[in-house]
Amino acid sequence: MIQDFADNKVLPEFDVCIVGAGPAGITVALKLGEAGLKVGLLEAGGMTFEQRSQDIYEVESIGRDLYANSTRLRFLGGTSNHWSGRCRPFVHWDFERKTVGDLPGWPISFDEMQRYLPEAMKILDLPAQGFESENGPLKGGYFEADIFALSPPTRFAEKYLEQLRDSSNIVLALNCNLTEIKLDQSDEHAVGIEVAGYDKQRHAVKSKYYIMAMGAIENSRILLNSSSLASIDAVRDMAGVGFMEHLNVGLGEFILNEYSEKKSWQYYTTEKIIEEKSVGRGNVAFGILQEITSYGRTAKIKTFLKGLVCGLGVKDKVQYLSSLHCPGEGVIGTLLEQFPKRDMNRITLSDEIDYFGLKRAKLNWQLGSDDLHTIRTIAIEIAKAFADSGLGFVKLRDYIHRDDVPLPVSPHAHHMGGTRMALDASGGVVDGNCKVFGLDNLFIVGSSVFATGGGGNPTMPLVQLALRLADYIADMAKH
Ligand SMILES: Cc1cc2nc3c(=O)[nH]c(=O)nc-3n(C[C@H](O)[C@H](O)[C@H](O)COP(=O)(O)OP(=O)(O)OC[C@H]3O[C@@H](n4cnc5c(N)ncnc54)[C@H](O)[C@@H]3O)c2cc1C
Repeated sequence: MIQDFADNKVLPEFDVCIVGAGPAGITVALKLGEAGLKVGLLEAGGMTFEQRSQDIYEVESIGRDLYANSTRLRFLGGTSNHWSGRCRPFVHWDFERKTVGDLPGWPISFDEMQRYLPEAMKILDLPAQGFESENGPLKGGYFEADIFALSPPTRFAEKYLEQLRDSSNIVLALNCNLTEIKLDQSDEHAVGIEVAGYDKQRHAVKSKYYIMAMGAIENSRILLNSSSLASIDAVRDMAGVGFMEHLNVGLGEFILNEYSEKKSWQYYTTEKIIEEKSVGRGNVAFGILQEITSYGRTAKIKTFLKGLVCGLGVKDKVQYLSSLHCPGEGVIGTLLEQFPKRDMNRITLSDEIDYFGLKRAKLNWQLGSDDLHTIRTIAIEIAKAFADSGLGFVKLRDYIHRDDVPLPVSPHAHHMGGTRMALDASGGVVDGNCKVFGLDNLFIVGSSVFATGGGGNPTMPLVQLALRLADYIADMAKH
């Protein structure tokens, strides 16, 4: 059932209380509801976008801009309301690195993740044939064809609204904001959480287990704001540590040797380049500009032709004319792994206060020297491989080989880490079962638990982890 917390503040005691109804929270809620547990799913926003909720996502940014206010959505369905749907799984090597950056790698095996891939693919409406690649490897062995699949993209609120409404085991409470997590005297057990509606009145909610699913930045922010958690080593020392984004860098431009109907080529780093060059993983995409633009060496001619043809009223010939003389030209973009660091890119608290009196997140997103090394090495190696394979010519941007030219990096809206998964509290906030170290009933799910970001997209793996957590809790609840 769905309840608006603005109208009805009475919530029953739950078996499992999940906070945040984006892809992570909705996935766990539905699976636990199906397993027969009484589930509370508390969502800060309502059914659609409202500024009063979104304002709470304002952050204090003191590094490179992550656009963290506009790349998250704070209402039912969360950021899935505007995600693009690209899915690319982790690779088994991601789980075999002992240390990445200066932090420990994943404490679980790749198979643990892989087990949940088919179920996650169904949830995300991915094509049955799975992940596909269209182009072959480049010469040199450093890059192979990337594989990926596109979700429609699945909007979780739209897809699962009816199921949430009809479930007799799930109470979805809208406009219900988590403000604090309370521990009992043992300091080992969450005894309740405090929530508030937009009238700012605080209310207690009780449950056997609690799961935080508020997105990567908020999972850290709420832990850091909860004063009763300050005595928990993992929270005090590690909450906010190891935040990561994927690096989105324009590497340069390319011109094909021959005209091609194909409009994009996507490559992925092989283990050879990771081992030989000590770089992060990732995707390099060559995309042909689809439109006649004022960009590139033939821009002037194309613009002239466009004007001429449009003026004559034969718009359908624009594409033909624009490609007549041109072998093709395009831009090269990336989705590259950022190494997690203990002291860099840490989420901390600002002195600025939000509507509910909680400290806002302070983000200092920076590029490390090893991130710079990843970008530059991959740029140079892919340019060589592209040319050696006879596909065309690449012109790299000046900042790839010059330190005096600022290197612009944009985020991909992939917020990861901050409550990372590790073997013990010296390396992270949660254990291999997503349980907060030192507490017996507080769990975290979402890309905040990623130990590394790899070179793929985060939503499918976080759905895999959500399914795995649901199985773990359903099993615990039986005993
Ligand atoms: C433009 C864009 C394109 C993207 N494209 C891709 C893509 O192609 N592939 C991909 O894998 N990923 C993509 N992403 C990322 C993807 O959207 C996220 O990985 C995914 O939505 C994260 O799911 P989540 O459930 O962990 O968090 P969210 O979707 O952020 O959900 C968190 C939920 O928690 C709620 N909440 C927050 N605070 C509180 C609180 N205090 N109390 C109660 N509830 C709270 C929020 O309202 C929200 O509903 C994209 C993101 C953007 C912005």
